[in-house]
Amino acid sequence: MATAELQHDLRNAVRDLCRAFPDSYWRELDAARGYPDAFVKALTDAGYLAALIPEEYGGSGLGVMEASIILEEINRSGGNAGACHAQMYTMGTLLRHGSDEQKRAFLPKIAAGALRLQAFGVTEPTTGSDTTQLKTTATRKGDQYIVRGQKVWISRAEHSDLLLLVVRTTPVEQVKKRTEGLSILLVDLRTAVGHGLTIRPIRTMMNHATTELFFDDLAVPVDTLVGAEGEGFRYLLDGLNAERILIAAECVGDGRWFIGRATRYANERVVFNRPIGQNQGVQFPIARAHVNVEAADLMRVRAAELFDRGEACGAEANMAKLLAADASWEAANVAVQTHGGFGFAEDYDIERKFRETKLYQVAPISTNMILAYMGEHVLGLPRSY
Ligand SMILES: Cc1cc2nc3c(=O)[nH]c(=O)nc-3n(C[C@H](O)[C@H](O)[C@H](O)COP(=O)(O)OP(=O)(O)OC[C@H]3O[C@@H](n4cnc5c(N)ncnc54)[C@H](O)[C@@H]3O)c2cc1C
Repeated sequence: MATAELQHDLRNAVRDLCRAFPDSYWRELDAARGYPDAFVKALTDAGYLAALIPEEYGGSGLGVMEASIILEEINRSGGNAGACHAQMYTMGTLLRHGSDEQKRAFLPKIAAGALRLQAFGVTEPTTGSDTTQLKTTATRKGDQYIVRGQKVWISRAEHSDLLLLVVRTTPVEQVKKRTEGLSILLVDLRTAVGHGLTIRPIRTMMNHATTELFFDDLAVPVDTLVGAEGEGFRYLLDGLNAERILIAAECVGDGRWFIGRATRYANERVVFNRPIGQNQGVQFPIARAHVNVEAADLMRVRAAELFDRGEACGAEANMAKLLAADASWEAANVAVQTHGGFGFAEDYDIERKFRETKLYQVAPISTNMILAYMGEHVLGLPRSY
């Protein structure tokens, strides 16, 4: 099947699946801060969460472009791909750097839905965006690593079987460059919890199942190490472009949802004997937000195409994330404004999506960090931190 036709069919199929999970489904979960188990199961059963797993391991072997279409359509339907998107972008680390044994042991089970790899542990409370300074350590003791430290904002840890964990295996004082000495462990959460790992949920402004992790001498086998010891930072960077592109697609999905809702309401709502959308003061902000979402989408498509051809796409992936996050946030604000008081009513879902899309200004990377990357690596300006 030609690529365009495949992508068109994929988009329609995901849209169909999402129809079974209407606004009320997401609204009720939001109120209860519940995990969308039924939705994640349906997505897994349909094979969508295995989109990036090669066919030899039971996945569909699709590209980041197709994966991004899946996530975009979830958000465009009014849902929230944040419940499961990490399985898409953590996969690359295992695929590119995992051993054959690890891939054979985990990928077919993940593809079949028997195992979930939904959690990714990088951020720490005291070091934040300064990843190379992270303090969680893994010390080799015989055929085990002993993990000590703390992570924060680790999402979906309570709903995942596996966690990709970034730790320091060589103290920062003993490495030449601060990017050295970090490693990635694939931790089995099912055996870790209660044996050195404690998970504490954090209640946030939106429904995101995020948590704090406390490692108190957790012992894990050395074969949980992904790739070579000390090379973890390089592996982390390798996965970031895919993550940026996938998040950009979610923001495009959010943006299109906000524009769709704002347009519908502006056509229907009559005040002063005319639809509010007849007023340019209402119409133009919606039109401008639409222009910005569509422009961001072009950058997302360009980044995804480069990625899937195996070409360098650091600049495009970062630009796509920044433009799409800004465009979805602009569209969110416009949708609230267009709905007037009803923009604040839970039953209209605007306020829920508004809270959800705000996250992408900060996570998985904040806008300032993208601008720092563009300034330093693309424009050759002095390093600012
Ligand atoms: C709901 C949620 C889910 C998350 N899920 C995960 C997850 O699953 N796994 C995970 O590892 N992490 C996760 N994160 C963490 C997220 O990636 C971080 O919050 C983000 O990277 C920013 O780190 P920080 O919060 O420590 O902010 P800080 O690093 O403390 O930064 C605070 C602010 O200062 C700005 N800033 C800092 N330094 C500079 C500088 N030098 N120049 C300019 N501006 C600067 C930042 O841009 C930011 O706006 C999640 C966060 C949230 C809120």
